[in-house]
Amino acid sequence: MIADYLIIGQGVAGSVLAWTLDRRGKRVVLVGSSGRPSASLAAAGIFNPLTGKKLVRTWKADQLFPFLHRFYGEIEQSLGIRFLHRTNIYRPYRSIEEQNTYLAQTSDPSIAQFVLEKTEDDRYGPYIHNPYGGLEVTGSGWVDLPVFLPAVRAYFTEKEQYVEAEFDYGQMEIRDDGVVWQGRQYRKLICCDGPYGGQNPLFGWLPFNPVKGQTLDILPETYGVDRIINQGIFIMPVDSGICRVGATYTWHDINWQTTEDGREFIEQKLRSLLKVPYRVVGQRAGIRPATKDRRPFIGLHPAHPAVAIFGGLGTKGVSLAPYFADRFAEFLEGRKELEEEVNIERVFSLYYKSK
Ligand SMILES: Cc1cc2nc3c(=O)[nH]c(=O)nc-3n(C[C@H](O)[C@H](O)[C@H](O)COP(=O)(O)OP(=O)(O)OC[C@H]3O[C@@H](n4cnc5c(N)ncnc54)[C@H](O)[C@@H]3O)c2cc1C
Repeated sequence: MIADYLIIGQGVAGSVLAWTLDRRGKRVVLVGSSGRPSASLAAAGIFNPLTGKKLVRTWKADQLFPFLHRFYGEIEQSLGIRFLHRTNIYRPYRSIEEQNTYLAQTSDPSIAQFVLEKTEDDRYGPYIHNPYGGLEVTGSGWVDLPVFLPAVRAYFTEKEQYVEAEFDYGQMEIRDDGVVWQGRQYRKLICCDGPYGGQNPLFGWLPFNPVKGQTLDILPETYGVDRIINQGIFIMPVDSGICRVGATYTWHDINWQTTEDGREFIEQKLRSLLKVPYRVVGQRAGIRPATKDRRPFIGLHPAHPAVAIFGGLGTKGVSLAPYFADRFAEFLEGRKELEEEVNIERVFSLYYKSK
């Protein structure tokens, strides 16, 4: 029997794409290796339309954000679980200068649409250093990936369309009209292997730029804040009084191990932001599948039209995946072209050079 899509990797990229294609009536088989470390399980899952020290609008915010709210909301409804937390992000100003700059920026309607008109600074004062007040970003929140991912896995397991395995690229046959794996033919193989993409024999030539990141879980003595706080680092209330705090960004020693340096870096920033005593109760490390030009890698392999990639989601997998999975599905069904900025055709020259 010919199935439509064989998807390798069950992080946020593979899960969102599998769900998207399934909803469009396609037959998908999802292969995951749940014992391997993944970016998605290390991630905080935050989506934020205004990011960075300079309060910049996230690339494609107008398309991504309405889409992601709808997308995750529909899965919650369909599976009867909760993992989408719509939460504002409070950004205490670092100085009077920053306050002035940010306030000037919020006169721009494209920024103002994501900023709360009046911020209640007093509610944060007992817990957070905010001598100059702060600004509250709306339309933001977080996806609880350790809830979302197993739920998607259970959905496809139930339909007998999930395979728990280490996919071996040497054990499949690539043809022009599909791939054959374990005696079954699929119209397309789609690699959603995130930070493992650099070692993938089919896509290792792509210019990945992996970024290691670490977070801490802390238990503050008292903490009456339900929003995400962001000033250089984020403090995000998760569950049972625990807050996730992070993150680090490093481009060296790319591995999945937590480090003392990582912990010290986060704690140093935390101490200048959080007023109350806390205890560290956990630490995680992950690798962000970032790319040299900071745009996703989506599209068909230059030599094998039956092989594709949906990856390179970098620091923003949660917000990029739903919209671009939909765009990719349209492309795979022959309805629309892929946007040039994300299509791997932009770097095909590297493939030919590598031959
Ligand atoms: C510390 C940290 C904090 C972050 N915070 C955020 C955040 O707040 N918001 C946000 O949007 N993003 C965040 N990110 C980035 C986010 O993690 C990524 O954008 C996203 O998780 C990438 O998803 P992915 O599915 O491409 O990769 P992954 O989640 O790594 O998934 C790839 C999967 O492929 C599987 N796989 C690989 N090869 C094989 C094989 N041969 N056979 C079977 N399975 C295979 C792996 O097991 C893995 O599960 C953060 C990342 C880090 C490290």
